[in-house]
Amino acid sequence: MPRPRLKTTLATVLTALVALYRPVISSAATTAALAEHKSRLQKAAPAGFTLLTEPPFIVLGDEPADALRMHATHTVKWAVDKLKLDFFRKDPDEVIDIWLFRDNHSYTNHAWLLFHDTPTTRFGYYSAAHHALVMNIATGRGTLVHEIVHPFMRANFPNCPPWFDEGLASLYEKCREKDGHIQGLTNWRLEGLIKSIREGKTISFEKLTGMNAQEFYGNSTSANYSEYYGQARYLCYYLQEKGLLVKFYHQFVANSSADPSGFSTLKSVLGEQEMDAFKKKWEAYLLGLPGS
Ligand SMILES: [Zn+2]
Repeated sequence: MPRPRLKTTLATVLTALVALYRPVISSAATTAALAEHKSRLQKAAPAGFTLLTEPPFIVLGDEPADALRMHATHTVKWAVDKLKLDFFRKDPDEVIDIWLFRDNHSYTNHAWLLFHDTPTTRFGYYSAAHHALVMNIATGRGTLVHEIVHPFMRANFPNCPPWFDEGLASLYEKCREKDGHIQGLTNWRLEGLIKSIREGKTISFEKLTGMNAQEFYGNSTSANYSEYYGQARYLCYYLQEKGLLVKFYHQFVANSSADPSGFSTLKSVLGEQEMDAFKKKWEAYLLGLPGS
């Protein structure tokens, strides 16, 4: 991780400015609130940054303006439109800034300068404290789409357990449009999952769906950290490929008081009573995928 070159005092001033300019809104981000926030953020953003309104977000960054506009339209707007089409009715309650930094140097320097963060990932992350997605856009758009899912999930399904929140978000790390809808594609997480399947290390879906945040996320040194993401992602992938993902989401939300983990709803939507047998079927399906 390169050491930030800018002095802490300047960082403190800029961080304070960004915090100062955050509007207090308690309802869904309105056009007026976005416009007000954008004009204030314009004064706090570093020189040379372009700011764009892409409801419900402000997108800002130091790429050339045309490149930033392309990301705002073809990634942010596209993902928001497609996610709202199938899943989400409500916008996030807070204005969220999407910072797209043009390269790793800009990303690490500005994460420190603006937010006093030292990123633990080279791709990007969400800062709840600053209501900001902080992205190294040079690494591609996958993490950006992943991170866009989370604020919509919080707004629409605040009690969503981590397996589905991360399963759906990571499903769209690699995605395309199919018949007007968003479709997740197989990605790098499959390889690790296939290894777990072959070694008999996958866990039961009852255990996966029943995990609380502490159990699911553990800590960054947990050997199972990515495996839970992979298993959750490819359960969502399976539902998608069987045409059941959108139906599952809406039934899960509707039934969540009675079935907070989603496990009973999962059985019902899959039409499976014996989930250990289903797990074997799901594993055989994944082993048969191209590239597995
Ligand atoms: Zn996530």
